[in-house]
Amino acid sequence: MVIPIMLNGDCSSLILGWLMQRGHPEVFRRSKTIDMSDIDNNPLVQFHTKYYWFFKITFCFVLPVLVPIFCWNESWMEAIGISGVLRFVIFTNMTFSINSLAHFWGTKPYDTRIKPVQNMALAILTTGEGWHNYHHAFPWDYRAEEYGGNFTNPTTIVLDLFAKIGWAYDCKTPSADLVRQVATKHGDGSWSEVPVEECK
Ligand SMILES: [Zn+2]
Repeated sequence: MVIPIMLNGDCSSLILGWLMQRGHPEVFRRSKTIDMSDIDNNPLVQFHTKYYWFFKITFCFVLPVLVPIFCWNESWMEAIGISGVLRFVIFTNMTFSINSLAHFWGTKPYDTRIKPVQNMALAILTTGEGWHNYHHAFPWDYRAEEYGGNFTNPTTIVLDLFAKIGWAYDCKTPSADLVRQVATKHGDGSWSEVPVEECK
């Protein structure tokens, strides 16, 4: 169950509808030209692909239902209903809200020519995805946000931690100058300068 939400009155962009639509033929044509061999040959990716359904069912449904039953005597009915189904519905809708709500409730400090907006409430709900105007203006920035890791973007804190121990590298961020130029030229005027941290 996913709540349908319209994006600019366009039925093709329903929060659920876009997932059910067949992609544009050009998407299929161009996706075939992308060299994915490094990812396809990565042993960790192969392991994940092979055991995807086992992990998905175990960690998404079996454990969340069994933990309350065996740890604090929750009833089966409540464990399945709340920890299993309700939790899954809430988190699925929070995740997909980025494709709908984050495109029409908020400011556009970086680029007014695109639909995505900045929305702190969504950033908190989705662990950092709500800074969407920035993310689409600078899609190659690993932080998906101008100011780096903070309580609204714990995903970046994890990535920075991985960078410190060598698991993540070549993390890209735009220079403070580039951000200033883009925001000044295309933003809605709500941008203000805060130093940009570089990924080490
Ligand atoms: Zn988007």
